Amino acid sequence: MHLRKRVLVTGGAGFLGSHLCERLLKRGDDVLCVDNFFTGTKDNIAHLVADPHFELLRHDVTFPLYVEVDEIYNLACPASPVHYQHDPIQTTKTSVHGAINMLGLAKRVKAKILQASTSEVYGDPEVHPQPESYRGNVNPIGTRACYDEGKRCAETLFFDYHRQGDLRVRVARIFNTYGPRMHPNDGRVVSNFIVQALRGEPLALFGDGRQTRSFCYVDDLVDGLIRLMDAPDTVTGPVNLGNPVEFTIRQLAETVVKLTGSSSRFESRPLPADDPMQRCPDIALAEKTLGWKPKVPLEDGLKLTIAYFRDMLAR
Ligand code: NAD
Ligand code: UDP
Repeated sequence: MHLRKRVLVTGGAGFLGSHLCERLLKRGDDVLCVDNFFTGTKDNIAHLVADPHFELLRHDVTFPLYVEVDEIYNLACPASPVHYQHDPIQTTKTSVHGAINMLGLAKRVKAKILQASTSEVYGDPEVHPQPESYRGNVNPIGTRACYDEGKRCAETLFFDYHRQGDLRVRVARIFNTYGPRMHPNDGRVVSNFIVQALRGEPLALFGDGRQTRSFCYVDDLVDGLIRLMDAPDTVTGPVNLGNPVEFTIRQLAETVVKLTGSSSRFESRPLPADDPMQRCPDIALAEKTLGWKPKVPLEDGLKLTIAYFRDMLAR
């Protein structure tokens, strides 16, 4: 029988967090969702609030939190460049002060804690695909640094608490993930393209569209996060979680147009500063230590995501 655990999910009303809360409740955990609703919404978790094992707390992780829990998934942080660059100082604070507060909480209550880190710790990578051993190529004073360096510092804190405080830690380096419950104004490429295609607007291709990303469907990613949390304590990571099938942004745009049946054209826009040219995870470590690899091909995941946005835009 599955033992009911008390699990804290920070950023639980966001895109990934809401799917994670749902999965944890389904397997019989008690879930405490903490969010300040900066990019997350109550709509994402509206279907969970009637569950007696679900609890919602409006709280900003840059302030201390006193609760009793067994496990912590620390996801609180805006993830889209548009949103994390809106108030870059707050973004760094969320990553760094948020990590310090959640690690302090984990230490006090002896909880296991997982950090949602990111492929952005590799910056604009010179090694391809990126293994966990690659130390990255981040511009520390660029417009993406608030996010990249904030997440890198959070990783440092996790490993120092592990070494110094004997804390049970897990670090997941998440690569581009997409799916239902992304905000229509999220600003990331998959939701942007789908919303533009469904509205018959031009798809805004930044740069020449030859930059690459590898897109993971949300269900696969959540499965990876839970496997990492459940793994033996020797498996601290960092572990890459993402789909290793790489596409150019132009190929993504073409696929979205095909699957939506849209007549939208493409429109070129300037490439944002420090936009990585290529990104693809080496997931050998996740396969070996977690027995995990993504199952959902891009077209299948896109169809589910398009159906979600079609329904939302019709309302
Ligand atoms: P999201 O923006 O939908 O979710 C982030 C959530 O954190 C939101 O609900 C937001 O309101 C909340 N939040 C932000 N600042 C907070 C604060 N100070 N206190 C409390 N809550 C706060 O983004 P997402 O895609 O669900 O990302 C979740 C996590 O996964 C983030 O930490 C992100 O860096 C990481 N990640 C996501 C991806 C991806 O492709 N989705 C890739 C790499 C890493
Ligand atoms: N992009 C684009 N059009 C958009 C949004 C993004 O062409 O409307 C490009 C962006 O320049 C980047 C890639 O798509 O090269 C992925 O961007 P996103 O913001 O989703 O995430 P990133 O991986 O850059 O953090």
